[in-house]
Amino acid sequence: MSLRRSGAVPGAVASDSLDATRRARELAALAGGEVVDVLVVGGGIVGTWAALDAASRGLSVALIERGDLAQGTSRWSSKLAHGGLRYLAHGDVGVAWESARERAILMDVSAPHLIRALPFLIPLGGHVDRVAGATMEVGLRLGDALRAGAGTSRRRLPPARRISAEEARQLAPGLSDRQLRGALLHWDGQIEDDARLVLAVARTAASYGARILTYVSASKLRADGATVRDEHSDDGGTFDLHARHVINATGVWADTLSGGAVRLQPSKGSHLLVPAAAVGEPRAAVNAPVPGAGSRFVFAVPRADGLVMIGITDAPFDGPVPDVPTVDADEEAFLLASISRVLERTLTSQDVVGRYAGLRPLLASDTDADAVGDPTATADLSRRHAVVEHDGIVTVVGGKLTTARRMAQDALDRIGASASGGPCATHRIQLAGADRPAAANGAALAPGIPATHEQLRFAVEHELALTPDDLLDRRTRIGLVPPWRTAALDAAHAALEPGVPTT
Ligand SMILES: Cc1cc2nc3c(=O)[nH]c(=O)nc-3n(C[C@H](O)[C@H](O)[C@H](O)COP(=O)(O)OP(=O)(O)OC[C@H]3O[C@@H](n4cnc5c(N)ncnc54)[C@H](O)[C@@H]3O)c2cc1C
Repeated sequence: MSLRRSGAVPGAVASDSLDATRRARELAALAGGEVVDVLVVGGGIVGTWAALDAASRGLSVALIERGDLAQGTSRWSSKLAHGGLRYLAHGDVGVAWESARERAILMDVSAPHLIRALPFLIPLGGHVDRVAGATMEVGLRLGDALRAGAGTSRRRLPPARRISAEEARQLAPGLSDRQLRGALLHWDGQIEDDARLVLAVARTAASYGARILTYVSASKLRADGATVRDEHSDDGGTFDLHARHVINATGVWADTLSGGAVRLQPSKGSHLLVPAAAVGEPRAAVNAPVPGAGSRFVFAVPRADGLVMIGITDAPFDGPVPDVPTVDADEEAFLLASISRVLERTLTSQDVVGRYAGLRPLLASDTDADAVGDPTATADLSRRHAVVEHDGIVTVVGGKLTTARRMAQDALDRIGASASGGPCATHRIQLAGADRPAAANGAALAPGIPATHEQLRFAVEHELALTPDDLLDRRTRIGLVPPWRTAALDAAHAALEPGVPTT
């Protein structure tokens, strides 16, 4: 496997290839009493960036995750590297600016191989009057100013512009032409896949020497380590890991491990998946304004796997946090009705081939809730992040996929990593992962399934896939469509059998 290239950032020391053998060896060393500088708890986007940040500063690092990488919220996102338009609409210029800056780093440095420019349309039809259209256009121009200020070139993300109804229907042939006056066209970043972004960050961290230990859960955190359990071994038992610093990056579960030091108000977001043909094979994402809801939209985003993702809901979620949230019937009805308003064809549940939901780890903030005048709405709660120190442990929570690199930097700065290691270097590091086999280069697992036997084998040998679910739900996203999952299950089991060819 490739070693990290030396050059821009010193310190890459190891292979970025992860597998069960490396995991077992590294876990045994830690269980045997080895002390690391930093223990990161949580293998979502924030935890993996924290591991990479610490390791690339020259610190010794272990990351533990109770399930697979991206087991939690980080695989349920809309997969957009946002430039912060929505925060601008709420006057939150600070959050918008941070988003635009982090999007620029992601698209230009960290992950140009995992993020593409995606055109978005806002159709100007009967549902958007001329004043509302002009206001949106002003917002898009401000978004352009942020893009330019953050250093993203017009070639990477072209500026927003008004287009004709004809051009809009060329980009999205499923658009209704009822009273269509034209559309606003703007651009944002689309992440190939959120779980694969997490994996890329984790593999890069491994190349700087971080131990990436999946299926290791923490039951108790202390300032000098954690009590953990090896969930992948029948006789793993409970033992202690020792560290000089502990970072809690467990997202929507962070409050349970922080002893109440952070208070979260999770917000649920649901998505539907429909075949692209059901919405006219769009080449651009379509934004449908939600009537009476200010700057809220429901969007239909084309994906590389032949599906279109329709999202997103945004509502407070109370009660115990489930491992895998599900989409409710009323959320599905809302999404279908909202997007159908701008389409030629009315979508129904019969069109839906997959559904998923996630919980945003939003910070509870009475001030923000008051500001929007509706304490039951989380749509406008802050997407800011927080770094909170309690009992010698640092918890980092909030934010989003786009800003996770910065969140990690802030958490590491809080534990004094600049003094004990070096300055943050993650804004200069290109992520690993450009070397995996492309879906097109091999035999499909089954007719119509966008994944190959080579991809599964590679995931076992180099991407730390330990279970069939890892292969179907995180290394590939076959599991989002239940019939695809059923058709690919045997191949996933076979890929994990030692020495058994998978084709
Ligand atoms: C529906 C939806 C859409 C979104 N869309 C976007 C988008 O398009 N763009 C964007 O920038 N952001 C988006 N976000 C926000 C973004 O997805 C989240 O902010 C981000 O993924 C949170 O990452 P995290 O690492 O904090 O949490 P997580 O990904 O949940 O990671 C926390 C990890 O901790 C692990 N864990 C928990 N307890 C323990 C324990 N005791 N021991 C060990 N491990 C433990 C969990 O298994 C989990 O893997 C979206 C969020 C949602 C819900």
